[in-house]
Amino acid sequence: MTHQSSLTSLVDRFGRTVDYLRISITDRCDFRCLYCMAEDMVFLPRAQVLTLEEIYTLAKAFAELGVKKIRVTGGEPLVRKGALELLQNIGSIESLNELVITTNGSQLETMAASLKEAGVKRINISLDTLDADKFKAITRTGDLQQVLRGIQAAKTAGFERIKINAVILKDRNHWEVNDLVRFAVDYGIDISFIEEMPLGIVSQHSRADAYYSSDLIKADLVRNFTLIATAEKTGGPSNYFNVAGSQTRVGFISPHSENFCGTCNRVRLTVEGRLLLCLGNEHSVDLKQVIRANPGNMAVLKQAIVDAMLIKPEKHEFNINEQPIILRYMNMTGG
Ligand code: SAM
Ligand code: SF4
Repeated sequence: MTHQSSLTSLVDRFGRTVDYLRISITDRCDFRCLYCMAEDMVFLPRAQVLTLEEIYTLAKAFAELGVKKIRVTGGEPLVRKGALELLQNIGSIESLNELVITTNGSQLETMAASLKEAGVKRINISLDTLDADKFKAITRTGDLQQVLRGIQAAKTAGFERIKINAVILKDRNHWEVNDLVRFAVDYGIDISFIEEMPLGIVSQHSRADAYYSSDLIKADLVRNFTLIATAEKTGGPSNYFNVAGSQTRVGFISPHSENFCGTCNRVRLTVEGRLLLCLGNEHSVDLKQVIRANPGNMAVLKQAIVDAMLIKPEKHEFNINEQPIILRYMNMTGG
């Protein structure tokens, strides 16, 4: 079924243009963050996972359909063998304006400079706490110092903007929000606070009990910092504030307390090749099947992507008080 005469841009039923693709290039990770994964996660067998060549072909197809920004994520993208080469290849797609990554920072100490050379423009690094024991407890396997050295390496490599992503959970790290902003200010980098999303079933906490809203975080911060609202959007759901007297911007991603779906410009590709039309819904199209059934046929692949826009839902349906309707975990989804 075709709903657009020319295959040059992606527009959904609600008139939203999709120009941003997030690709999860692996479901594997060296950490096991308790809000993201079950402790005994079983990872996908290789045959179910897109090859690096397939990921590149998909990235190219999306770019030819008007996608301007690609975020490579995971799982931990930098633990996939060949990640750097893939990033180089995607980075050299001419029509793309921006190649960015989200990482837990564990590999940055050795990879930051090569990522810069590969054409990665911006890096988001997850950091929920500055306390080494707490860091170990939240990530189950991570080493805070290794990540801090990674952040330093990214600074040294000269990335334009580095942003910390912090998931805030009540009674686990909510009292650290001021320290995290102070850290960002000292490093001259940005920070976004994220409300936990109910993706997959986690065992160690109740998501409803752990909910700590963006408004509560803001109230904690204004006691120590002057936050100046900006009209700025970085093509994402964050609302940004400048921290007075600093280079730092503070963002709030509030899937529960604020609905940002009206301006949604993005879709996600899972490592299994499922195109997810909305983070908070299961609507998807199996692009791996399309690509494997039609090897080398870019036209068929692009048509499948254009047609997929027809099922992009109007909005997400998260409810932290109910069992998750979304059974996939964030590492599959590519947060
Ligand atoms: N491994 C990389 C990392 O941690 O940055 C990239 C993938 S990770 C899934 C991307 C982002 O999703 C991280 O900032 C992480 O904190 C966030 N995340 C994971 N599970 C989440 C959840 N249930 N709710 C909200 N954010 C979540
Ligand atoms: Fe790994 Fe990132 Fe998920 Fe943590 S949030 S387990 S680092 S994929």
